[in-house]
Amino acid sequence: MNSSNDAVRAVLALGSNLGESRDTLSAAVADLADHPGVSLAAVSPVARTHPVGGPPDQPDYLNLVIAVDTTLAPHELLAHCQQVEQRHHRERIVRWGPRTLDVDIITYGDLRLQGPDLTIPHPRASSRAFVLQPWAWMDPEAMLEGEPVAELAARAEDLPGLEIYEGD
Ligand code: ATP
Ligand code: CA
Ligand code: CA
Repeated sequence: MNSSNDAVRAVLALGSNLGESRDTLSAAVADLADHPGVSLAAVSPVARTHPVGGPPDQPDYLNLVIAVDTTLAPHELLAHCQQVEQRHHRERIVRWGPRTLDVDIITYGDLRLQGPDLTIPHPRASSRAFVLQPWAWMDPEAMLEGEPVAELAARAEDLPGLEIYEGD
């Protein structure tokens, strides 16, 4: 049995651009925390990203980052994240299509892992402002692979057009 002393701090990134994205993100955070092996430590503000290129009527993306303390092993945490995704996909699959919610594991303690179905840290996180900027808002001191997250965010190509979302 794990005790709470064995909990690992993990950072998860959530995104949605279909359906009632703000509500989906809030419900998903609650669903992620609703597990005996997961304790919510912090939630970032929400970032809104205006799509660059693509069809003009493509909805904005909303993204946030959470920190959790978890006793789940990395693959157990991935399975939990995918269950939460499924739950929100299923609820809206007919009306809104399949991508109402994406949950990625960004970091899991200091673990480095490269496997067929799980790579940690998330291999594309270090270049994505929609992950890095909410993370830096949540934790200005955060580091990713030896670099300040705030500095990585400032360099990310998708930073222009990203703004804090406080509701429509
Ligand atoms: P991206 O990974 O570029 O953000 P995506 O989130 O749209 O793309 P998905 O279709 O959601 O990609 O996931 C594809 C697979 O990525 C998942 O089935 C999962 O096994 C794998 N994967 C690998 N590393 C991770 C990680 N750190 N977090 C979540 N999924 C991961
Ligand atoms: Ca993703
Ligand atoms: Ca994903």
